Amino acid sequence: MDAANRAEALAAYATETAGCVRCPLAETRTQVVFGSGNPDAELMLVGEAPGFHEDQGGLPFAGQAGELLGRLLAGIGLGRDDVYLANVLKCRPPQNRDPLEEEIAACEPHLFRQIELIRPRVVATLGNFATKLLSSRSFGITRVHGQEQALELGGTNVLLYPVYHPAAALYTPSMLKALEDDFSRLPGLLGRVTPTPAPAPSSPLAGSPPEPVEDDTVAVDAMQLGLF
Ligand code: URA
Repeated sequence: MDAANRAEALAAYATETAGCVRCPLAETRTQVVFGSGNPDAELMLVGEAPGFHEDQGGLPFAGQAGELLGRLLAGIGLGRDDVYLANVLKCRPPQNRDPLEEEIAACEPHLFRQIELIRPRVVATLGNFATKLLSSRSFGITRVHGQEQALELGGTNVLLYPVYHPAAALYTPSMLKALEDDFSRLPGLLGRVTPTPAPAPSSPLAGSPPEPVEDDTVAVDAMQLGLF
């Protein structure tokens, strides 16, 4: 399926999912928060579940954690519309409690279908719930953050890249630093090399002017990605 057909299928799937009654969260939600962003994104980020603001507005990462996520993405030259944002659960758990196992099991086909249609190159899992679900491992985020894992999800070969959840990093400076460090590796994992900035002309280290660069990204051979 080409990108246009996949985008169309994703939109149709979102419409279908809006009426989902696979678990009891259907009774307490305001609306299903399906996901948002570029349906052909190379980078997909998966959080935990909608909170109050997401449940009200229908879009993921609408609150403070979303603001931080926006800043982290901007730091690597990406906007929210360049990536695709989704959650493990598509409906808000009451009082923002943790997702229950049975809710995750009921909802996971939606996430796998999203991955299947978007075909991202990298899936960044934000926090424990998304990481444990998509890695099929029980290691916590503290142990595995920043460690990419090549695997197949939704019939697509992806790099799974666990990072701390921005909501957890909001109030913990050491976690925020780790999250920023982990984000700084994303361009490389996406097959992009950001050129080292040229030294300032006044610097004694400055030599001849740098060669003009036509494109600030360089595709890395797909084989190389397979080595991770
Ligand atoms: N907002 C979301 O959409 N997901 C989270 O995991 C947290 C906040």
